[in-house]
Amino acid sequence: MSKIKAEYIWIDGYKPTANLRSKTKIVDSKVDTISDLPFWGFDGSSTLQADGDDSDCMLKPVYFVPDPIRGGDDILVMCEVLNADGSVHESNNRAACAEISEKYASEKAWFGIEQEYTFYNGSNPLGFPEDGYPAPQGEYYCGVGADNIYGREIVEEHMQLCLDAGLDLSGINAEVMPGQWEFQVGPTAAPTIGDQLWIARWLLNRIAEEYGVTVSIEPKPAKGDWNGAGAHTNFSTKSMREHGGYDVIVAACEKLGKNIKRHIDVYGDKNDERLTGLHETAKITEFKYGVSDRGASIRIPMQTANDKKGYLEDRRPAANIDPYEVCTALIETTCS
Ligand code: ADP
Ligand code: MN
Ligand code: MN
Ligand code: MN
Repeated sequence: MSKIKAEYIWIDGYKPTANLRSKTKIVDSKVDTISDLPFWGFDGSSTLQADGDDSDCMLKPVYFVPDPIRGGDDILVMCEVLNADGSVHESNNRAACAEISEKYASEKAWFGIEQEYTFYNGSNPLGFPEDGYPAPQGEYYCGVGADNIYGREIVEEHMQLCLDAGLDLSGINAEVMPGQWEFQVGPTAAPTIGDQLWIARWLLNRIAEEYGVTVSIEPKPAKGDWNGAGAHTNFSTKSMREHGGYDVIVAACEKLGKNIKRHIDVYGDKNDERLTGLHETAKITEFKYGVSDRGASIRIPMQTANDKKGYLEDRRPAANIDPYEVCTALIETTCS
């Protein structure tokens, strides 16, 4: 039987925004279930997850997909980080997300996350000139043509890789600032939505490598009159999707309005630079919800208002969120 390559992916201990790490394990034969994959150690002192004199951390495989780059039976494996004694590492936000998702499993919560990001060429967003600025925002969003679009070949390749990996990708679009793009994952239950978003981010960084381009998930990459980068989180429970769902959605919005700090605390670092009340955002200190309102904290999509059931869009999460934390907060606030 031929050996396969399993790319173990994990989230490091950098704060306030963590990075992805990965290394390859050669496994004796094809993997059918997650329990076929062994735990694996790594040097936590190199990832801000342990001290040098007691450096071992553990990778616990939790989710895997086909590796669309290597192909064959090779796989990408999302891992949780554990301490050497097997307890949950403090950087591991997935364990709590899995626990609360399990507790409220009967609610059948779904998440759709819109990941915005910005390509960089050196220290400038792709499409920005060496000095100064490109033409102001207006024609870039969902645009076409070499004067509007930068990095499409990477985006196309990334989209195909996500599909080949079997991720629940639901679309992509060019964003309002040059070099800025979005992909959407979902609707998917937690914690799988988080696993898929992290794997999609890994694939994006991995494929951009080949072009010498970097990917930023900074909430406000270009200061001034340029849109920031968010991770709008679309959310529904079974009762929101069914007859009478609109009232359940409004009740959820009311609860969210009473837990502003709980949410903003996990909605991304430097999100105050993005949630200014301008550029299709609500102020970080304010809370409002409304139908079709892109200046609201929570938008109820037009379709949901028309159907009287559906989902809500929390527009506050920044591009640099840990999706596990956001899903945990949404379930905690609206389901309990
Ligand atoms: P926008 O109009 O805000 O740009 P997008 O089309 O980019 O919206 O993203 C909407 C996201 O919402 C998609 O990821 C989609 O899969 C997700 N979504 C659709 N229906 C639901 C639902 N019932 N619950 C949660 N997410 C949903
Ligand atoms: Mn979108
Ligand atoms: Mn967008
Ligand atoms: Mn949106």
